[in-house]
Parts: sequence; C-alpha cells; structure tokens
Amino acid sequence: MEENNLLRKLPAVDAILQHPEMKELVGTDRTLAVNCTRRVLERCRRDIISRRIEPPSREYLISEIKRHFVETNRSSLRRVINATGIVLHTNLGRAVLSHAACRAAVMAAGSYTNLEYNLVDGGRGRRYDHVSGLLQEITGAEAALVVNNNAAAVLLVLSVLAARGETIISRGQLVEIGGSFRIPEVMAQSGTRLVEVGTTNKTYISDYEAAITPDTALLLKVHPSNFRLRGFTHEVTTAELVELGRARGIPVVEDLGSGFLIDLEEYGITGEPAVQAEVKLGVDVLTFSGDKLLGGPQAGIIVGREKFIDRIAGHPLTRALRVDKMTLAALEATLKAYRNPEGAIEEIPTLKALVASPEILHSRAVKLKELLEKILDSQACFDIQKITSPVGGGSLPLIELPSWGVCVKVETVAAATLARRLRQADTPVLTRIKDDSLIIDVRTLLPGDEKELAISLSRALED
Ligand SMILES: *Cc1c(COP(=O)(O)O)cnc(C)c1O
Repeated sequence: MEENNLLRKLPAVDAILQHPEMKELVGTDRTLAVNCTRRVLERCRRDIISRRIEPPSREYLISEIKRHFVETNRSSLRRVINATGIVLHTNLGRAVLSHAACRAAVMAAGSYTNLEYNLVDGGRGRRYDHVSGLLQEITGAEAALVVNNNAAAVLLVLSVLAARGETIISRGQLVEIGGSFRIPEVMAQSGTRLVEVGTTNKTYISDYEAAITPDTALLLKVHPSNFRLRGFTHEVTTAELVELGRARGIPVVEDLGSGFLIDLEEYGITGEPAVQAEVKLGVDVLTFSGDKLLGGPQAGIIVGREKFIDRIAGHPLTRALRVDKMTLAALEATLKAYRNPEGAIEEIPTLKALVASPEILHSRAVKLKELLEKILDSQACFDIQKITSPVGGGSLPLIELPSWGVCVKVETVAAATLARRLRQADTPVLTRIKDDSLIIDVRTLLPGDEKELAISLSRALED
C-alpha cells in the first residue's frame, strides 16, 4: 500500500488523548501525556516511511505511551531493594537510616531550624554544636566537628595541621579506599609532604623515629579498611605512635574509616578498632565516616583535642566542606541512639542487619520462599541456601557473616537474564549470582520488601 495511505491510518494526537484508557495520564500531567503521545506517533510514522508496515493497533500505541510516561515521570534517584546481603553497599548509598534519623531529616528539610542560631541569647550559633556535645559524650574526645564525608575530613585535617610540613606514614597504610580515594593523592592535595616509612608488610616504631626532622608536622595512621596484612607482618600500635608523638611534640592523626562505636564481639564481629578505644589511647585527632558502621548519614566526623579541633573549625576550607541541616538532624538522631548500646543495635538498621542471627535469617528465608511459591505458582523453583554475606563499604574485609538466602531457578531463563530483569523492574531488586543461580540474601531486606520483591520477580518471569 502507498505510504500516505498507511500514514493516514495512524490516529491523531487528540483522538488518542480522548481515549478512556488515557484519562488517568492526561489527568496526572496533560503536557507530559501530549509529549509522550507525539513521540510515540512520530516513531510509528518513521517506521511506516522506512519499512512500509501497517500502523500498530491503538492498544499497542497506548501501552507504549504509558510506558514512556512512566519512564519520563520517574525520579532518577529511586528506592531499590537490596537483596545482595551487603549491608554497607557503597553503590546503593551505604547506611539505611533509623526511623528517628529519617524523621529528623524530614523535619529539618521542611522547616526553618535553629541551625546557626542560639535560641537562648538570640545570637549566632554554630551548626556543629548540634552534634559536637553528643560526639564528645559518646567517644570521650574533648571536641568534635563534622564535615561532608570522611574523605573531606582527612583532606581538611592534613591541610590545617600539616600543609607546610611533612607527614610520616607507614608504607603498609598507603591504601586506596574505593571510589578513587587514595591516601597518597589526598596527602598531595592537602599540600603536606608524604614521608613513607617501613615496608609494605613490616613497619616498626624505629622507622618513624628515624624519619622525624624539624619539618615533621604529623604522624599519620590510616586504617587499611578494605584489606588486611596477614602472614609475615609487623604493624606499629596506636599506643607506640602516641608515645612517640608525645615525646617529640608531634600531633598524631588517625583515619579510622568506619566509625565503629559499640562492641559487637558477642556477634562475631571483631577486627575493627572502636573510636572510644583510640581516643583513650591519646590520639590527637581522629576521623571517620558517618555512613559506614556508624549507620548514619554521609558525613566526615572529626574528634580529638580541643586545640586542634578549634584550629580546624576556624579554617576556610571547613566552610567549603560543611554539612547541611538534614545531615546534622539525621546524625544527631543516630548518635542519640548510641547512648544505649542495646537500643542502638535494635534501632540502627546497619547494626541490626550486621548482628542478625542465622536463626532469624533462616526463618525469614523460609517465609520468603513460602511467599514466592504462593505468588509465583510453579514458574520457578525455590530453595533455601546457607550462604555468607560480606559487610561491604570497605569495612571488616575478613568477616563473612553466616546468612541464609532463597535461591531462584527458572528452567527457561538464565540467572544473569533474571538478575537484569529484576534490576530493571519498577521496584529494582539487586541480587547475587552464585553457581549460575540467582540468590536473594535476606539479611539486607527491609521490613515490607518481601511483597514488592515478589511482584518484581513475577514481572521478571513474565517478560
Ligand atoms: C571509607 C574511608 C574513607 C573515605 O570515607 P568517605 O566517608 O567515603 O568519604 C577514608 N579513609 C578510610 C580509612 C576509609 O575507610
């Protein structure tokens, strides 16, 4: 048939917009509905011209318009279901905040606040004061400050305390912490001169001693976070470093990474230095993340001796790295939970997920399997598997937490295909693949995730 006749068969924009099936879209956002209709019709027109095919049915056109509408209207930053079992998944935004922290952030977002206002005397206040008292109370440090993230905290501390001098660090601690944060590069950025001592596997206090010159500004210790030295090794202890710093009048700074604040040994979680213990040893300035093991919002927390924290707080770079009111509100609420460690484990999702017992995880996996079997009939085969979950976020690299998962097998669909479909679902689900089967690790499922996961999975099986 002739091209023009085919094109004439395509409905007009208005005719489609008046279709009863389009009523909801038009009601939600007429302009977007018109744009999507035009775009879909234009594509059909091009297909007709290039391939001389019959125009698609009206039902098909409307379903395509709806699909476009939903895609265009959707936020870019979306909620996803984390079924990977990795509690601190950096690509999934690390810590999930407690209810109290979420409420506090929403309050701050939608209101005026006393962020930098002293309600007692009506004068100017400091934004850091909303959390510095709590941080002192919990960590035992003399003073505290909060900036945008721990990378910023390290850069700031080095810039203020060592820009014009040398910083001594062990070769075993010149690490890269994912996301292009490399200690030597951050040190260079701050202006301090890096003085490496020891070897990759062995560093002694005498190595630091021998490297001290009149230009030495800092002794730096960096927690290697995402890796561990094992075998023929020797590391200098914090106590030795503090003793040397004291004797020679040189400040000691430690980048702790994670912000571990309570003892979780009874849950099998060891190997991460606690902030309080390092403060007690006399480290002058410590930095750590707000959104790793601490389980709060993204932030870089700096605690230590008052005279150093005051110098840091007054530096112009601090202004450039400052945190906003929502972060401070969420951080304050998170820190408050730490006043009662048992309560913190219950309240802070990161801690709760880390300490979840294999028995609890097993029963959750059994329940999920039953739900999936009920909803998905016989489309797939499910079984319960004993697995382990890494912690993630560059924390506790040697720990594999015993966990349980539901393994999903579908005759006709490869695990990788199923994983991709789940990732692209309306509510995206991130899973793990092991031995060519798809695994849902229940450790990181949040309350209420199960039903939506089942819906996403049933759609993924239909595709
Ligand atoms: C994670 C980490 C950082 C970076 O912290 P962010 O909060 O991600 O900026 C720096 N140092 C160490 C040792 C870390 O583990």
